[in-house]
Amino acid sequence: MSVQRPQKYGESFSEWFSWIISEAEIYDYGRYPIKGMGVWLPYGFQIRKRVIELIRTLLDETGHEEILLPLLIPETLFAKESEHVRGFEGEVFWITRAGLDELDIKLALRPTSETTISYMESLWIKSYKQLPKKYYQIVSIFRYETKMTKPMIRVREVTTFKEAHTVHEDFESTEEQIKEAVNIYGKFFDLLGVPYIISRRPQWDKFAGALYTIAFDTIFPDRKAVQIGTVHNLGQTFTRVFDIKIQKKDESIDYAWQTSYGISERVVASIIAFHSDEKGLILPPLVAPYQVIVVPIYQENTKDVVIKYSSDIAKVLRENGIRVYLDLRDEMRPAEKFFEWELKGAPLRIEVGMREYSSNVITVFRRDIAKRETVPLQQLVEKIRTMLDEIAQNLAKRAWKEFTSNIRLSQGVEETVKVLKESGGLVLMPWCGDERCIYNKLQGFEGVDVIGEVMENSLKRLNIDLDMLREAKCGFCGKQARAVVAMAKKY
Ligand SMILES: [Zn+2]
Repeated sequence: MSVQRPQKYGESFSEWFSWIISEAEIYDYGRYPIKGMGVWLPYGFQIRKRVIELIRTLLDETGHEEILLPLLIPETLFAKESEHVRGFEGEVFWITRAGLDELDIKLALRPTSETTISYMESLWIKSYKQLPKKYYQIVSIFRYETKMTKPMIRVREVTTFKEAHTVHEDFESTEEQIKEAVNIYGKFFDLLGVPYIISRRPQWDKFAGALYTIAFDTIFPDRKAVQIGTVHNLGQTFTRVFDIKIQKKDESIDYAWQTSYGISERVVASIIAFHSDEKGLILPPLVAPYQVIVVPIYQENTKDVVIKYSSDIAKVLRENGIRVYLDLRDEMRPAEKFFEWELKGAPLRIEVGMREYSSNVITVFRRDIAKRETVPLQQLVEKIRTMLDEIAQNLAKRAWKEFTSNIRLSQGVEETVKVLKESGGLVLMPWCGDERCIYNKLQGFEGVDVIGEVMENSLKRLNIDLDMLREAKCGFCGKQARAVVAMAKKY
């Protein structure tokens, strides 16, 4: 391992990120001969798998049903909703040939699946009695990104798109669904210790075809904003063009209502970005491929007894549902193993040698605070469980601290532009609530992107006093403020 470790923070975050995903054997990127497509390596695949398991559990327990839709969408279907097709126009990969034939109807590699599912829903759904209906799928989607691609962050094949599609009887029910989706995503990111701000996107930046879009964004160490989840109220846009008519409770016939929401592999990128230090990753125990690494430390004459002792420890932990790797690689010295597992972010390491064996204890090393502790063998499982919980909490706490340290309050446009230019991060500003006000005032400012109107509970979580709005003036026009708008430089 002779490669120079790039610094984690500041301008070189991109470089550090590329380095860590390769060095920790997560994702092989930039070598496959199609731009914007990477390979999940075994260790990274394990992390990805646990992230998927987590969202699957959260969706299943709230009544979502998993399905699998076709990858290809005929142009005739895709083009049905005009605003939608315009929104994706420049981003779609098309199949025009099959075998030796030119196709009569071009086929799109799905950039998203609203049209596919709406077509099927028009066949499936006839009555309010079937509603609400909540579907989801976890699939690859394809987008022809023309901006500079970045591993996991801006790719042409999003390999882990967790997208949900719901159908409802009326608008009120979609509004309830949006709340549920926001709750599910909030819980999901909280369990992973990924901090976020929730906002309503301005109309010009909403999902193509939606009434409105609610987004989760975070700030990466290079102090740029990254969208990590979106929730859309689709209204009746797709049900009208796909003729999804239902019989309502009052026996009238009307178009159904829909929502959709999705999260990509940017989740994994966020875990890596937030939970790491100069030595490498520090994985949250929930998604760590191995929560505990057991490293036996022995001489030739103590090898058998130490290996037996470590195997017993690993066995007990495994029997208690803890993911353990017993590192018996003979060709590596313990120090090399420590180095490797610290880089790969294993939350806990148990070191056992003759000293531990003789006194019936283990030595546990906590990756997040880099501290060793001696634990009596009788307390093994209980203590390891407690430590894993503490690590998860500590990682989340640190990540939120880092996140909030990159948020500033501003009173006006000039100040906002100056802050974003000088230090980046997220700037919150009082706002009158009129989108034209932002649109007109921000024309021509490079590097200022509107994230959206920050949701009230998100402001509360950031400890922002909402009462200040009664006194505050819109940073754009000077009228009475009634909301808070977030701005940043986006990825
Ligand atoms: Zn204004």
